[in-house]
Amino acid sequence: MTAKTKLGSWEISTIEGGGLFLDGGAMFGSVPRVVWENCISPDSSHRIPLATRLMIAENPDMQRLVVIDAGVGDKEEQAFRDRFAVWLPEGSSGTPLERAIEGAGFDVNLVTDLIVTHLHFDHVGGATKIDSAAESVPVFPNARHWVQKRNWETALNPNIRERASYLRQNVEPLEATDLQLLDGSSEILPGISVEEVDGHTLGMQTVRIEGGGKVVRYLADLAPTIHHLKAAWTMGYDINPLKVVAEKQALLEAAVEEDALLALEHDPENPWARIEQDQGRYRAEPVSLE
Ligand SMILES: [Zn+2]
Repeated sequence: MTAKTKLGSWEISTIEGGGLFLDGGAMFGSVPRVVWENCISPDSSHRIPLATRLMIAENPDMQRLVVIDAGVGDKEEQAFRDRFAVWLPEGSSGTPLERAIEGAGFDVNLVTDLIVTHLHFDHVGGATKIDSAAESVPVFPNARHWVQKRNWETALNPNIRERASYLRQNVEPLEATDLQLLDGSSEILPGISVEEVDGHTLGMQTVRIEGGGKVVRYLADLAPTIHHLKAAWTMGYDINPLKVVAEKQALLEAAVEEDALLALEHDPENPWARIEQDQGRYRAEPVSLE
């Protein structure tokens, strides 16, 4: 059963949305392999397993069921799936995103909002599916889709370094939904805010949920695993590593201040962490909600 936590009128849980394998060296940037291989051990192709863990926030009073991110999905051809050794939520009915939501005990017909942290394929691919006319179409055409404007523009016109991560079939169909293009950080629903960060890619947004005196933050690729909660551990994928360092330092300070529960999208073992401050140094500790 999915562990839930209550924040005022919001009930939050992480859900398993499948995963993929990415190159370990790329995931740990300038950290030497002799160090990172003790954190997550690589396979024979030097890849490490990474979850695509989603979040759901349910608010019966407001009649809102908010999903954060969408996983890889199943639109891509076999060669793509093999390269990343993609695994999907179990079952055969519906799309991988719908199976993930249903597997956690929620009704897919009640989804009102999808917050997309950024349009890299492992975060948004599951928001679309191939229909009977072989077209890519939204999985939740009636849901409100929240994306940062700068990320939307980047995804439609990516630089050559990020082009392999921004796939048109994941992005363009979302225009037919109730698409909300945000201009920076804002509170999008009572208690749910998005915060724009630009070091990983232009216009990524993390999500902050506050209620009942508690704070949960969904970090997306600002800190994909618990190991990346060290400010200096950036990824080879980050377009501006020094900006990531500064954004992460601000996050660590806020997380201590708020005693925030941090949700880790890609960590293969730890859905949740908290930051302890120890003689001026930050230390990430795994948290179990069971
Ligand atoms: Zn990304």
